[in-house]
Amino acid sequence: MLRVDVVLGLQWGDEGKGKIVDALAGRYPVVARFQGGPNAGHTLYYNGQKIVLHQIPAGIFHPAVLCLMGDGLVLDPEVLLREVQGLRALGLAPEERLYIGERAHLILPVHRWLESVSEEGEKIGTTRRGIGPAYADRYARRGLPVHAIEAPDFRRQVQRLTAYHEARFPDREPLPIPDTFWEGIELLRTLRRVRVSEWLPRFPAVLAEGSQGTLLDIFAGTYPYVTSSHTTVAGVLAGLSVPAQAIREVYGVLKAYTTRVGEGPFPTEIHGELAAWLQERGQEKGSTTGRLRRCGWLDLVALRYAIQINGVTRLTLTKADVLCGLPEVKVRTGGTDDAPTYTTLPGWQSLSDPAFQAFLTFIEEQTGVPICAISTGPHRHEWLERMPLSS
Ligand code: GDP
Repeated sequence: MLRVDVVLGLQWGDEGKGKIVDALAGRYPVVARFQGGPNAGHTLYYNGQKIVLHQIPAGIFHPAVLCLMGDGLVLDPEVLLREVQGLRALGLAPEERLYIGERAHLILPVHRWLESVSEEGEKIGTTRRGIGPAYADRYARRGLPVHAIEAPDFRRQVQRLTAYHEARFPDREPLPIPDTFWEGIELLRTLRRVRVSEWLPRFPAVLAEGSQGTLLDIFAGTYPYVTSSHTTVAGVLAGLSVPAQAIREVYGVLKAYTTRVGEGPFPTEIHGELAAWLQERGQEKGSTTGRLRRCGWLDLVALRYAIQINGVTRLTLTKADVLCGLPEVKVRTGGTDDAPTYTTLPGWQSLSDPAFQAFLTFIEEQTGVPICAISTGPHRHEWLERMPLSS
């Protein structure tokens, strides 16, 4: 039977999932994104050149790996066009290894337009890429799945949905549908579109690559300050049409502290100088928006919840290097969200400091889950495996 291993974030996203995906991807015949849209921003270096992928799975840089954009996604044809062109410029032929779930939904230009004419998204921190409105149309059952591009009246369907939304904001300048959208659709027509429930079980194993984090899940997260999809294991089942029994390892990624973008509850938030220090040291600002992320201490109450609902089997810890030099480190271990209580642990000067080992042991004891790997810095090679990753 198909084996599904999962990498997902345990906080509010930006945990540093890229490295574990990179370390694992080459071991699987298929890497699949299961949810979200082009707001995920994996920065990768390929032959010394920097490339940011927003929706194509990071597995595309591993020559033997097939990449699936699963049914759970909302997909922007214009972004896809730019990404494919960018990869071709690097000498890659992404169309040879890229597969697209025919039930993924399309982000239309009007979905981005909607976010620019309505202020609703501002407070909840949306990235204004049309993702929320595309999911809203999907659930309102008026959205356009990828397979709609085969319909003879596809162009009319796009125009109809565009007109429907434009009519809601009659005093706003409508946006003409740009040529690049239709070019993106032409590209989609040349790519392999598959029925995921038939295609995926042909392989022995798949690595499911999550974006954002558990606390942003549309159901399980801190609603309404959440994303529009299921960032949890539930999203894997629905987004890739796989049965629960297929799930094996669930790699949960956590930062040694916590960050969140935009408004919403944040029990362990730090303010003032220390927050500014963390933002600076940890480069805690959005790679495309430039927005500073709010920073706080590690929250083990939230972490235990994220581990529980995802069935996390292994943890990977990132960005502990950012905390180097602090005399002490706080970790929330109890209390309520309004009145959290903390355990204070000795800080560390370097990651070989026994105090850091004590921090790792503390997390493992508090969660009951082993930390299988540690990211020791921003670069690809700064990575330490503490146990064999894939059995
Ligand atoms: P994602 O949103 O969870 O996929 O996060 P990414 O994998 O894109 O990582 C976010 C940023 O954190 C990138 O710029 C990484 O280089 C950086 N990063 C990842 N791990 C570490 C780490 O252990 N230490 C430091 N200082 N930076 C890291």
